[in-house]
Amino acid sequence: MAAAVCRAAGVRPLLSVRSGRSMSCCSWRWRSSSAQERARQYTVGKKIHGFTVNQVTPVPDLFLTAVKLNHDNTGAQHLHVARDDPNNLFSVQFRTTPLNSTGVPHILEHVVLCGSEKYQCRDPFFKMLTRSLATFMNAFTANDYTMYPFSTQNSKDFQNLLSVYLDAVFFPCLRELDFWQEGWRLEHEIPDDPGSPLIFKGVVFNEMKGVFANNENLYAQHLQNKLLPEHTYSVISGGDPLHIPKLTWEELKNFHATHYHPSNARFFTYGDLPLEQHLQQIQDEALCKFRKIEPGTSVPKQSRWSEPRECHVNCGPDSMAPDPSKQTIYSVSFLLGDITDSFEAFTLNLLSSLLVSGPNSPFYKALIDAQIGTDFAPVVGYDGSTREACFTIGLQGIAEQDIKVVKEIIAKVIDEVIENGFEQERIEALLHKIEIQLKHQTTNFGLALTSYIAANWNHDGDPVEMLQISENMARFKQSLEDNPHFLQDKVKHYFKENPHQLSLSMSPDESYLKNQAQLEKEKLQEKVNSLSMEEKKEIYKKGLELIAAQSRPQDASSLPALKVSDIQQTFPLTPVEMTYIDEVPVQYCSQPTNGVVYFKAFTNLNTLPEDLKPYVPLFCSVITRMGCGNLDYRKQDQQIELKTGGMSASPKILQDNDNLDMYEQGVLFTSHCLERNLPDMMHLWTDIFNNPHFDDEEHLRVLVMMAAQELSNGIPESGHLYAAVRAGKTLTAAGRLQEMFNGISQVQHMKRIAEKPELLTVLRKLPRIKMHLLSNENMRCAVNATSQAIPEVSTEVEKFIRNIPGFGKKKKDKKLIRTNITEKPLNPEDAGSEVSGGSQATKKIVFSSFKACQMKTHFQLPFPVNYVSECVRTVPYMNPDFPSLLVLARLLTSKFLHREIREKGGAYGGGAMLSHNGLFTFYSYRDPNSIDTMSVFRRSVDWAKAGKFTQEDIDEAKLSVFSTVDAPVAPSNRGLDRFLLGISDEMKQKHREQLFAVDHDSLVGAANKYLTTGHSTWGAAILGPENESIARDPTWVQR
Ligand SMILES: [Zn+2]
Repeated sequence: MAAAVCRAAGVRPLLSVRSGRSMSCCSWRWRSSSAQERARQYTVGKKIHGFTVNQVTPVPDLFLTAVKLNHDNTGAQHLHVARDDPNNLFSVQFRTTPLNSTGVPHILEHVVLCGSEKYQCRDPFFKMLTRSLATFMNAFTANDYTMYPFSTQNSKDFQNLLSVYLDAVFFPCLRELDFWQEGWRLEHEIPDDPGSPLIFKGVVFNEMKGVFANNENLYAQHLQNKLLPEHTYSVISGGDPLHIPKLTWEELKNFHATHYHPSNARFFTYGDLPLEQHLQQIQDEALCKFRKIEPGTSVPKQSRWSEPRECHVNCGPDSMAPDPSKQTIYSVSFLLGDITDSFEAFTLNLLSSLLVSGPNSPFYKALIDAQIGTDFAPVVGYDGSTREACFTIGLQGIAEQDIKVVKEIIAKVIDEVIENGFEQERIEALLHKIEIQLKHQTTNFGLALTSYIAANWNHDGDPVEMLQISENMARFKQSLEDNPHFLQDKVKHYFKENPHQLSLSMSPDESYLKNQAQLEKEKLQEKVNSLSMEEKKEIYKKGLELIAAQSRPQDASSLPALKVSDIQQTFPLTPVEMTYIDEVPVQYCSQPTNGVVYFKAFTNLNTLPEDLKPYVPLFCSVITRMGCGNLDYRKQDQQIELKTGGMSASPKILQDNDNLDMYEQGVLFTSHCLERNLPDMMHLWTDIFNNPHFDDEEHLRVLVMMAAQELSNGIPESGHLYAAVRAGKTLTAAGRLQEMFNGISQVQHMKRIAEKPELLTVLRKLPRIKMHLLSNENMRCAVNATSQAIPEVSTEVEKFIRNIPGFGKKKKDKKLIRTNITEKPLNPEDAGSEVSGGSQATKKIVFSSFKACQMKTHFQLPFPVNYVSECVRTVPYMNPDFPSLLVLARLLTSKFLHREIREKGGAYGGGAMLSHNGLFTFYSYRDPNSIDTMSVFRRSVDWAKAGKFTQEDIDEAKLSVFSTVDAPVAPSNRGLDRFLLGISDEMKQKHREQLFAVDHDSLVGAANKYLTTGHSTWGAAILGPENESIARDPTWVQR
């Protein structure tokens, strides 16, 4: 929602983002606006189930009505946002303001989800994942609040989940065993061997080690602690691995009693379900049992400094960094005003965008274009996640001696902005951006809203004011009219004349990781030495107890559940229309897009010479950013900001639905704009296709450095994906290409490019790629727009297709340059049928006689944890065994892998998944183990083959698969599967029926047929620290 998206420092979800289940949701059925109308009927003062309405505010721009209520007996606050969106969301947030770094709010967040009074079984939260059709379930610990959100499209499911969530947060068991498992514990390395050494274990303990293995996180944490050194922001709410072992079970329980109370709670509900029902359930199941208290959790204002401060910290070296001699991060941060002043926050957010966003902003020009570093610092721009906001500006990837230069530039830019202000056109572009963001519909709007208002509301700001974006925009324009120096005055006040500023630098120290390990070792030694024989025996006993508890079969029958019969037999169809402009297929999908037009084009890479292929990702990341036609890159960026909601390109490898040795390779171009700007947007695409600029080596270097830095920084967050892509490299031809485009190879390739002293040779490759890629040969397009807009859109698309290279060549002239390319109808229904006019959408597929082979690769990286993955080549999407494997992956995850890898192994996450590419993937995330985890993968297969699971287990796994299959799709993306992969509604329906039909026999059969070692080809990869047992094993490739 906000114009400038800042990185919210320190927000940690309980679950890592699981692949397959998208975060996004919400099918936009525009029914009569009943939910909103109902909400508008409420009057202030009305009493509903123990609550009193105190404000009703329609927000027409967002098609919603906000209702604010207070709970009479406890003072709990409730905000209901009525909107005709079936993807209903609930969240409850507590203000959690710890005063030490033991991670108490974070560990509590984990432990409350481990069982409650009504739902005694262990881990109801994870069990609900497979008993519900939730479109989102998670929990987050932020700096100063803890939030528990879920969303679902099913009203019965909503009640079920609400019941589990309420009981979890207000009446958790907080068992000691769960505290050990989730928080920290001393345990023998091999729990049943008292001779093995005692070590620290625990989910949060390992999670936080993983978090701080990422230098971006480490920097953000230092920054906040040092800029706000007085109260809760001076500690680490997620927990410092060296402080976590100080936390006791007693302290955890006390923290719950004082913080998880209705008087300290904010409830949020969103969607089209009736408010009364929510309130009644919240009242009956939770609030009626409480009386008001004074929670005393508020955060005082930071006392202001009279002089700027400076600070330096160390971190571990980054082996993937583009230039090892330039790894210092430096920034200056300014403490701003209170975030509860919504208009001031809105203004500062816009001001931040003007200062740092895009190549036309003054800080980009002065800092990025100067090529002193690789990119902006990990924290940049406005950050409203603390009670008082801050603004940070700086660079990463600089040489330590350049700190002074950067500092001077920052001061100089501030002076210049105060002197000159901003161009009118840039302010217009920014306001346009807000307008299109308001209209662009995402599938997780409820979640976006609750995250958007959380910080402000947490400090007793008015969340409804934040939703009134149009009012804020009008006031902003008025302020500019009244005072042309409005923004300059803000810069002067908040930056130039503000002594509360912190200069923070961080640079790598070769011995940093060793020192950290040493400190941990000392803590451990201290703990162990203080133990009596009696206590040591106790620890051994408790370790065995924990394993026994983890292994005991669980009775989850007390938990509510949806049944397979609650899943709809059919799903809503997405009609599309395929037309042809000369020979280019264009798919139209008319949708309620709110006046936004979405245009996509796909062109294939079949004629591209092999030596150019590794450069395709780079080509994609720069093609809309180098300038085109008459526009240099700055003007092009301005035009994109002013007229569109974004234009981008990305490489795509599309696995064939019938054959694992076939795939389509290409690039997808995506964009959207307001209807009125369509001619401008298509004109931009025409210029990019006809005349992209490839002449500015300096600007290319800037983009290359940023891309290389971003890839390197992304490894700790996505290590499991990199491991999986690598493990699949030798299994299919598409997998090999996937590794080249999206794997560690690409990270290394970009690092090598970034290290080159000159980029001319790279620059010269780009026009060669352009020749093969930017043409209407082998192109297909897709448009999603309102039905009224489609006639005009088709005129513009036609103009585009006729004005770009390639048009006019006869089909006969287009020779496929390699023999291994074959043509197939895009939609199988078209096969054999003569389409009128002789046109038929086809895809040109690469057919390879790829020989799958086994390979195990270990990437030694300076992380304290591992990312382990194994892949098995199975079957393509249309194979009748595919649905069984899909259900099997969920079954293995929820019934075996989660327990062994997370609960027992102490990893942050682990599981199995099957993707459209036909590779069955096992993975673990931030895992203290490596080879052991691989043996867990094997044991899970044995477990599946033995068939020791029940019908209930199967039904739960199916439910979990369907929550993904039926996840809402935004209007912008409807029909995309058909367009890209050729998966029609008929194929989806057939697939759906096969999913329903999966049974015990087919699951055991699939496990035997595909997952037995020897029957299929496996690949493995581990990203992680030095590993002795791998080093000794010659079957591993070390990288
Ligand atoms: Zn966590």
